[in-house]
Amino acid sequence: MTWTSPFSLPGYWFKGNLHCHTTQSDGLASPEEAVRWYYERGYDFLAITDHWVLTPGCPTPAGAPDGAFITITGTELHGAGYHMLALGLSALPAESLADAPSEVAAVVRASGGLAFIAHPYWTGQSSAEVGAIAGIAGVEVFNAVCEKMDGLGYARVHWDDLLSQGRRLTGLSVDDTHWKHDSHGTGYVMVRAAALTEADILAAIAAGHFYSSTGPTIQDLRLVALADGRPALKVCCSPCATITFYTQGPKGRRFTAPAGEALHSAVLPLRREQVFVRVECADSAGRIAWSNAIMIEDLPAVEG
Ligand SMILES: [Zn+2]
Ligand SMILES: [Zn+2]
Repeated sequence: MTWTSPFSLPGYWFKGNLHCHTTQSDGLASPEEAVRWYYERGYDFLAITDHWVLTPGCPTPAGAPDGAFITITGTELHGAGYHMLALGLSALPAESLADAPSEVAAVVRASGGLAFIAHPYWTGQSSAEVGAIAGIAGVEVFNAVCEKMDGLGYARVHWDDLLSQGRRLTGLSVDDTHWKHDSHGTGYVMVRAAALTEADILAAIAAGHFYSSTGPTIQDLRLVALADGRPALKVCCSPCATITFYTQGPKGRRFTAPAGEALHSAVLPLRREQVFVRVECADSAGRIAWSNAIMIEDLPAVEG
């Protein structure tokens, strides 16, 4: 498999929130109110993910042009020791399977969906416990309501542990709003897709053609050649205070803006022993945008 930057693909960027509760389970807003809230703030799509309730779609918000905003089929499943975000599935798994997360994920996949482990730090899962669940597409690396309530919203160490072991997992930023803790609007994904349709958005998410954010924008991510010909990864972003490349172990690098200045780009030379590389761009308010991880073995230019 050869890595393709989502920034080099044809199509458009679409903003969405993939984890949200409504009055169908333990949220305070109705599905119609939720859809309207995101539409009015410039989002392109929303997945309503009520607990063990499948929400396949919502009407276009009143006044919105046809096709200007879509909903992605979703639900949140859970059993002993885990919560799972499921997107694009056509039928709910049987609740009798709930305590067998790999079986739940298998049913999600068999019905055409994608399964992500939700807020593993908040749940109390170790990375090994997450890694033991088969058939997942990724993990929530940021969950805004878990951060607001308990400071347990980030799961970067879980993600990096699993990436270091060669697990190909994407990392989501979600707000998981219940309309109680003021978390709506604080975690989202930017998806590169051919068109704003549920099928195109889900295919792009499955392929990792997105980045996640709590505020900053990633403007470009591509392989470049250094003056001596060595391959490197270059990121361009909205003005940031730090840009940090993460790899297996301390083989990445953090770049910090001088006082009173901002960073707009950074470059990391690549080597086989890094195993994976991903980048985080953090602004002066501590908000972060992060790319998905690139497995170094998917970069033929980086020789062994
Ligand atoms: Zn949950
Ligand atoms: Zn939730």
